[in-house]
Amino acid sequence: MNDERCQSCGINLAPSTHGSNKDGTPNMDYCSKCFQRGSFTQPSLNIQGMIQKLAENISAQLRIPEGRARILASAIIPLLKRWKQPEIAK
Ligand SMILES: [Zn+2]
Repeated sequence: MNDERCQSCGINLAPSTHGSNKDGTPNMDYCSKCFQRGSFTQPSLNIQGMIQKLAENISAQLRIPEGRARILASAIIPLLKRWKQPEIAK
């Protein structure tokens, strides 16, 4: 079982989808869509925006209505490291 998730968008992380640190090494917390070369690719994205993105993703992947997918996404996103922090990473 691999339940390693991107700590920003909630997708499952595989070795090929890890983001990168400033020095080019793989970042273990975030995927390549969210985090590249040491910073977030969409720094202004807020938690509501991310829940919406994940809901669309889940809806397409699992072929369930978006309303249901949003309930799942709302349960996942707030637990992730990026959104748990009281301050946005600088
Ligand atoms: Zn991600």
